[in-house]
Amino acid sequence: MQLSDSVTVLKGIGPSRAKQLEKLNIRTLYDLLAYFPRDYEDRTKLANICDLVPGEPACFEAMVISNPTTAHIRKGMDITRLKVADETGRLNLTFFNQNYVKDQLQYGESYYFYGALQEDFGASMASPSFERVDSSGTVTNRILPIYGLTAGLSNKVLISCVRQALDACGDALPEILPEQVRRRYHLCGVRMAYESVHNPASLELLMQAKKRLVFEEFFIFSAGLALLREKRTGVFTDAYDTSCIRSFCDALPFRLTDAQLRAIEEIGQDLQKGVPMNRLVQGDVGSGKTVIAAAACLCAVKNGRQAAFMAPTEILAEQHAENLSRMLAPFGISVVLLTGSVTGAARKLVLAAIADGSAQLVIGTHALISEGVTFADLGLVVADEQHRFGVAQRAALTAKGISPHLLVMSATPIPRTLALIAYGDLDVSIVDELPPGRLPVQTFLVDESYRKRINAFIRKQCGENHQVYIVCPAVEEGDDDTLKSAEVWAETLQSAVFPDLRVGLLHGKMKGSEKEAVLGAFSRHEVDILVSTTVIEVGVDVPNATLIVIENADRFGLAQLHQLRGRVGRGKAQSYCVLFSSSKNAETKKRLQALCKTTDGFKISEEDLALRGPGDFFGSRQHGLPLFKVASLQMDLQTLKDAQRASAEFIRSANSLDDPAMQPLKERIQILFSQDSIVLN
Ligand code: ADP
Ligand code: MG
Repeated sequence: MQLSDSVTVLKGIGPSRAKQLEKLNIRTLYDLLAYFPRDYEDRTKLANICDLVPGEPACFEAMVISNPTTAHIRKGMDITRLKVADETGRLNLTFFNQNYVKDQLQYGESYYFYGALQEDFGASMASPSFERVDSSGTVTNRILPIYGLTAGLSNKVLISCVRQALDACGDALPEILPEQVRRRYHLCGVRMAYESVHNPASLELLMQAKKRLVFEEFFIFSAGLALLREKRTGVFTDAYDTSCIRSFCDALPFRLTDAQLRAIEEIGQDLQKGVPMNRLVQGDVGSGKTVIAAAACLCAVKNGRQAAFMAPTEILAEQHAENLSRMLAPFGISVVLLTGSVTGAARKLVLAAIADGSAQLVIGTHALISEGVTFADLGLVVADEQHRFGVAQRAALTAKGISPHLLVMSATPIPRTLALIAYGDLDVSIVDELPPGRLPVQTFLVDESYRKRINAFIRKQCGENHQVYIVCPAVEEGDDDTLKSAEVWAETLQSAVFPDLRVGLLHGKMKGSEKEAVLGAFSRHEVDILVSTTVIEVGVDVPNATLIVIENADRFGLAQLHQLRGRVGRGKAQSYCVLFSSSKNAETKKRLQALCKTTDGFKISEEDLALRGPGDFFGSRQHGLPLFKVASLQMDLQTLKDAQRASAEFIRSANSLDDPAMQPLKERIQILFSQDSIVLN
């Protein structure tokens, strides 16, 4: 058997099982081996019956001391009962609709059981797993892997499939990590890692396996970034004359902050070099990243090239087009807007202008570079909101053979330590200063007892001609009725609480044009209160909004809450953020209070890192990074740093990247980066 063989070569896997496995994206034996357990149950320790605690599953050995009896309770419901005992106590076991246990559990024989005492039935347990004491231990007396499942596919079946695959071709698993790296960082070999992650003989071995797999995943990621960087060396462009940047800065109606000046300076230096720029500008919402990008665009155009400015949504593209036209007007630059709403003859004209180079600065959504838009001479690409523009898109640009200067802008501050690692192929400018005169948003954490007061506060803001956002975690009424749904809440507020105010509704399930219409109405102040899901997270800019109320705030991550809060405080008036949470959990409260204490996005992200570990950053889609499988669960900062250093050294020391020995690593890089597709909301 080979790793690339279909799972159907395994015993017990026919076409229907194969279909089920396919739902988990498992097609080949390799896929199966790379499908790691999502959790484990430690069933190695044997408990005494007298020590069992209701609700806490445990393993114990006991003898069957009564003949099992089956009773028919009602239609479709049989119950089998029996008694078991050890030296310390006895226990009633019940099995529902499992009549066959009668033949498996025999009077006078001993078995291992695994289950939890029922909470309110005293010494009784329902449907425990069990097996004979002399069996080799498949569900008891071991550390049991728990796999993510799909309908019809049991954990037991997966365990058996993985076992077969490990035995048949575990030895064929390619070793990605060079031996010297494994020795230096004390990492086990690939065979042992896969064996122990699926079938750990001890918790110790499981930890070792995980450490290696996390390291491996990050090694691959870092190597991929290093290769991207490598690919770009040896690519040259014209060195730009950057003198126009000065006059641009002087023509602005305000003084740039030191942080803005620093970033513009760094960009200027990149553009003079004659090699493609790859820079990330990270700065909190409102730190003034748009002017920085405008300076770069101007510079590209003044050097005879075209610039493309990509925004995550159409509304934002329109806002940018307006702002940039205004800023760049003194320099006589032709700015065009290309979005889905530009259709028919108008679109043809715009496309023609882009193709013949008469459109100098083109503003639009990601479609600008992902679809068949042809530029005459694209010199610079600006991507706003980096977390919607991932590694894969960066790679795609390079792969297309265009090597424009690239400037990505992110308002999601990630801790400096992680930024260096995560954006290993980018240079980073940090804008850690807000323009002067901004009033920091005041943030309050409240529970339901404040509901009336907050409603009065909403009314007061609207009475002062301001507008309010209300964010709910869910779109519709769902299974979890503790979660506020945007649809229902908007309806309730409009009919029962604020009948005299204009309440709008916005959520991700609405059609693009509907969303644009609602946002448009809100920005024209035709709506007073906008009830929304997190779709407003990215870049909506309505300076007249002075209050954001976030329902079930504990459901969101700190970084996300900070991002949401950034929707207010954009104008001159004092703005407020109210976090509703009924959580009594001390950790949760601490997390939310961190947000009340500071408005500094970098501090908040450091706090989030300290509270939740780096895994959260790499396990979510927030930052345009690929999704990590093991790493998101288990990553620690040191492993991350080690893996990055090791991969950098390895790439540097490799004779040639075309060496066949590099092939397995390259394949893994491909896989990791390819899952990362464009996310548009
Ligand atoms: P970001 O994209 O970083 O969230 P913007 O670029 O949209 O922020 O800037 C927010 C607002 O601040 C805009 O209205 C912009 O004109 C203004 N602004 C930017 N820089 C300055 C500055 N140095 N002084 C005053 N206002 C500024
Ligand atoms: Mg912006």
